[in-house]
Amino acid sequence: MITLDGVRKEYENEVAVRTLSLQVPPQQTTVLIGPSGSGKSTLLRLMIGLITPDAGTVTVNGQPLSDANVQALRHRMGYVIQEGGLFPHLTGRDNAALMAHHFGWSQARIDARLNELTDLVQLNPDRLSQSPSELSGGQRQRVSLMRALLLDPDVLLLDEPLGALDPMVRADLQDDLRTIFRRLGKTVVFVTHDIGEAGFFGDHLVLLRDGAIEQQDPMPALVHDPASTFVTDFIDVQRAPLDHLGDENRE
Ligand code: ADP
Repeated sequence: MITLDGVRKEYENEVAVRTLSLQVPPQQTTVLIGPSGSGKSTLLRLMIGLITPDAGTVTVNGQPLSDANVQALRHRMGYVIQEGGLFPHLTGRDNAALMAHHFGWSQARIDARLNELTDLVQLNPDRLSQSPSELSGGQRQRVSLMRALLLDPDVLLLDEPLGALDPMVRADLQDDLRTIFRRLGKTVVFVTHDIGEAGFFGDHLVLLRDGAIEQQDPMPALVHDPASTFVTDFIDVQRAPLDHLGDENRE
């Protein structure tokens, strides 16, 4: 469980996250949605201790994050960013096994874990010999997910992990990711600005606006019982493929 209690983060003259409290339920997928600049990535970075709040407390598995425990707690959390964040000079294998090398695992243990993970993320193991530039965007994100899962963390934090992928690859990975999340029963926090993706993944949706929580609910409540016109506007602005037909018929 991750809890944010009265957390605030400011940059120079800009407030990225206004004082807010949030409970991320364990073993479910929580989706942070909202327009660009609404504070989604900042919230995720606060949860994994990459940045520290100006006020308030972030608690992970009952322990308030502090300088003393942040490194250890970070190893219980996997983190995936939009472009994967893989090291370009390392093969897929070395990228995925980064933390195993850090902890001095034996080669046999590393190989066994990578086998499990290629199976889980549906990546052809031959791909692990290639460098990130030789992999497609979807394959890179599968390797990034392997790296994030290597130490079998309790928590997975994903910051627009599918944002850079074309729609067909994205849909494939959405299916696979949702299956993985359900199978592993991890606590997942997933950032997206795509409302369709949010509904597909999220048990629990947190809609942000200007660094504050506008509404947190399952998708049906956001649609049928919106907290404000902003919620409705945010949902409605994403055009369905046939929306324009009515306009043309009127002309
Ligand atoms: P989102 O992920 O929803 O697009 P962010 O959390 O990245 O939003 O950013 C929230 C606000 O904080 C934005 O206005 C952004 O410009 C600002 N911000 C985020 N990170 C920094 C930073 N490192 N330095 C200065 N401003 C930042």
